[in-house]
Amino acid sequence: MFSWLRSLRAGPRIPDAAWQATLERYRFLAELPAPEAARLRELTALFLRDKRFYGAKGFVITDEVALAIAAQAVLPVLHLRGGLTWYDDFVGIVVHAEEVVARRRVTDPAQVVHEYDEVIAGEAMENGPVTLSWKAVLDSGSTAGTGYNVVIHEFAHKIDMRDGAVDGCPPLPAGFAGAPSANAARAAWLAVLKPAYDDFREQTILADRFGAEAPWLDDYGAVSIGEFFAVACEAYFVNRQRFGADFAPLLALFDKFFKPRRG
Ligand SMILES: [Zn+2]
Repeated sequence: MFSWLRSLRAGPRIPDAAWQATLERYRFLAELPAPEAARLRELTALFLRDKRFYGAKGFVITDEVALAIAAQAVLPVLHLRGGLTWYDDFVGIVVHAEEVVARRRVTDPAQVVHEYDEVIAGEAMENGPVTLSWKAVLDSGSTAGTGYNVVIHEFAHKIDMRDGAVDGCPPLPAGFAGAPSANAARAAWLAVLKPAYDDFREQTILADRFGAEAPWLDDYGAVSIGEFFAVACEAYFVNRQRFGADFAPLLALFDKFFKPRRG
């Protein structure tokens, strides 16, 4: 167990060297303006105090592992009202050294049960733990150019799941985007997200089947609108400029939600 994590209970403080090393590895964190960076560090310390990390199959949770995951997980809730309470439905974060092999079980329309293994970089379960591959987390230190980030992906699902369904629409505050009711807010959200998803899906299919140019962003986003939201969040947080160039309406929508104080 790490001495400075224990000491966080008395007075949260992440050592400078450890914090700087995290910012250097995940450059999109270092690009935050000073007040936001200070808030990120503060919330990261509280996240480390409140969550529990488990190494799967002998994987050792070091300070580096816990800090890298915590700092990136905090980024989406940095400006949200409620802050870390968005992650209150779970405590555990399970980290595997390499890929995560998830056992799947599906029942087809003929009521035949199929079981298979799926290799994934991470997974978020409603009211359950977040599972991550440390290899995939490390990779995201150098994949901001492609908009890829497994930690933000899984924690975006957590935010989406706060109202139950993984449907690409997180619970929206009253008056979101000037909407008079929660239903109207949701309709306003989907009026932007759904066309962007449909368009992305179509471009992905055209690229796949007819050799058209593939859209920027992980094509995993074409799986469902819930996955599209998580994939879009990755890009929004790690490569705002490119995301804004390709998905301007989504950038404006996400700013309204993730940075409410800026309007
Ligand atoms: Zn996902």
